[in-house]
Amino acid sequence: MRIVFLGCSGGRRITFQQKRASGGFLIEEGDLRVHVDPGPGALLRLIQLGFDPSKTDVFIISHRHMDHVADINTVIEARTLGGWNPGGILIAPEDALYGEDPVVYRYHRDKLKGIHTLKEGFSIELASLKISSVIRHPHHGVETFGVGFEASGIRIGYITDGRLTDDMLEAYRGFDALIVNTTFRHPRQLEHLSLEDAVAIASRCTPKLMILNHFGAEIVFWGLDRAAEYVEERTGIRTISAREFMEVKFGPKVSVSRLKLVNPICIAYKSGN
Ligand SMILES: [Zn+2]
Ligand SMILES: [Zn+2]
Repeated sequence: MRIVFLGCSGGRRITFQQKRASGGFLIEEGDLRVHVDPGPGALLRLIQLGFDPSKTDVFIISHRHMDHVADINTVIEARTLGGWNPGGILIAPEDALYGEDPVVYRYHRDKLKGIHTLKEGFSIELASLKISSVIRHPHHGVETFGVGFEASGIRIGYITDGRLTDDMLEAYRGFDALIVNTTFRHPRQLEHLSLEDAVAIASRCTPKLMILNHFGAEIVFWGLDRAAEYVEERTGIRTISAREFMEVKFGPKVSVSRLKLVNPICIAYKSGN
């Protein structure tokens, strides 16, 4: 199993001024590719890294905020080639899919092979990968769920945006790695996680690896490595900060590297052609 981060930005300022890239992350297990929270620029980042967007098998939306879903219709369009290549599965909370103001167009929902509502107790097995909802997070009144991925005895938890609760600290125990949306450096009453929350999560949930992600301005300008060190020094849990195009491979050992941009269109642009 591997994770590829298309971006690492969170919050309005960093995401919508593109101070760091956004677009969510990929989980790959065998031939299966899952794209989680395809925020702004997701399609561009896939293509820059050489991923064929028509080969994504599963899309997951943790919640309907724009930094998580801005490109969802775009990546479904690219997956289905405008309907010529129908397929793909979408997993998303009900208020992202239906109701007065869905963030996934009906046109695109109709092109998919399957749609599953992400809710408490949800679980699905696709080839060798098991995907489950972990727990609902309190987050500005929108339906928001953390997600678990399990394959070959490895469990990865995705702690998306929200206000930390005791129930969450309990629910995220037992994972080998936790991706934590650490938007703020200092705690604020805004239903987002801070570095202090990341310390509490690492201490209580004791994963082998913490991956901080979804950084707001406070952390971006303070330093991503300092943020990771802050958590690791206080907990003794190995902690890294996600960066755009970072790859984390899980096997007997965990390896971390950075993918190169390969798309010739972007190279042409950079060279002025
Ligand atoms: Zn967010
Ligand atoms: Zn949010």
